[in-house]
Amino acid sequence: MTATAGGPSLPQERRVVTAIPGPKSQELQARRTAAVAAGVGSVLPVFAARAGGGILEDVDGNALIDFGSGIAVTSVGNSAEAVVRRASAQLADFTHTCFMVAPYEGYVEVCEELAKVTPGDHAKKSALFNSGAEAVENAVKIARSYTKRQAVVVFDHGYHGRTNLTMALTSKNMPYKNGFGPFAPEVYRVPVAYPYRWLTGPENCADEAAAEAIDQISKQVGADNVAAIVIEPVLGEGGFIEPAKGFLPQIAKFAKDNGIVFVADEIQSGFCRTGQWFACEDEGIVPDLITTAKGIAGGLPLAAVTGRAEIMDAAHSGGLGGTYGGNPVACAAALGAIETMREQKLDARARRIGEVMTPRLKAMQEKYDVIGDVRGRGAMIAIELVKSGSKEPNPEATAALAKACHSEGLLVLTTGTYGNVLRFLPPLVIGEDLLNEGLDILESALTTL
Ligand SMILES: *Cc1c(COP(=O)(O)O)cnc(C)c1O
Repeated sequence: MTATAGGPSLPQERRVVTAIPGPKSQELQARRTAAVAAGVGSVLPVFAARAGGGILEDVDGNALIDFGSGIAVTSVGNSAEAVVRRASAQLADFTHTCFMVAPYEGYVEVCEELAKVTPGDHAKKSALFNSGAEAVENAVKIARSYTKRQAVVVFDHGYHGRTNLTMALTSKNMPYKNGFGPFAPEVYRVPVAYPYRWLTGPENCADEAAAEAIDQISKQVGADNVAAIVIEPVLGEGGFIEPAKGFLPQIAKFAKDNGIVFVADEIQSGFCRTGQWFACEDEGIVPDLITTAKGIAGGLPLAAVTGRAEIMDAAHSGGLGGTYGGNPVACAAALGAIETMREQKLDARARRIGEVMTPRLKAMQEKYDVIGDVRGRGAMIAIELVKSGSKEPNPEATAALAKACHSEGLLVLTTGTYGNVLRFLPPLVIGEDLLNEGLDILESALTTL
């Protein structure tokens, strides 16, 4: 094997030359077990050496097809040209001053770009942070400061992070919350329109779920007490649930009518992933605040809250920030990632990925009744696995299928409240041949299941 650089020049070919994980990965895994806290898990203990395009190469020389993008992060591909160019130049100039000490242009430029690419043509402002959870926490701080109210409403199957407040906002106990309480108060959870599992059927789902959610907010919390409603326009960790059409607009309208800040958590669904810059555009929703992270900076840690200028300005000077928030190298990387999304029209690429994947997955669903549902938009697609002839979740088959894909050199991730969803989040720059090859591997894994 000749060593090559990662990034766009990495050969775009799957190659399995050892067992997966191979001997070098296993050696590193032993060191890891001794040195790294057990609470930090990994989907697949294959240690990375290089990555680029649709390929992740490990230390044993295996080249895996990447259907994960490091959880929807490297949408522009690993080490994308513009990200490396801009971040490297910034690394050479300065690495950190702290924006709260001595500001720099890159931070301002990222906020200007966010104002352009996020939905709505109202005056917008942004604040930058390090992680998605931190962005969500700050959106809540800003909404509370603006409304002078305390309650926060979130939804069944929602995921918003692992810090104390965002654990409270997150729905699923294991593994995110179990044993880590007590959780922050004034958080209320209401139903979401999950079409596949709505008891009276998908056609009634949007209206019934919206009515139920609004009734619970009104009766149990009191609309006047609610600072923010926080929702993922496509729910990520909950299982790639697309709320039934009509649900989000009703919730957004309820928020507007009651002076509640409507926060779209687009940390997973944003930045071209679903075939539009942001998933909430699909139903023409203009959120008051939008949280972003993951895909924003091609793999460097950056997150943002963007929203209506009057809301964003509600917090007092000095009330928002953090030592590293909007780090200059991460900002340069974000500008490179956004440039790449524009120039390579990655929103259209995401739609094309959906057009390739969805019919093939639907055909598999016809053949294999373990697939209960195929859903998602653009390059955020999933299959929900069930026990034959029922809707009973089938996490065992999901784990087995993921494992079978891994051993053939296809990196896939599982998700979902019931652990029974296989999700596909390829880099948006993946070649169509690799995409189809990945689907071939999935199909033969289904055959042997
Ligand atoms: C990943 C994620 C978060 C948390 O982001 P981190 O960077 O891991 O803190 C929050 N919300 C959604 C929707 C996410 O997918």
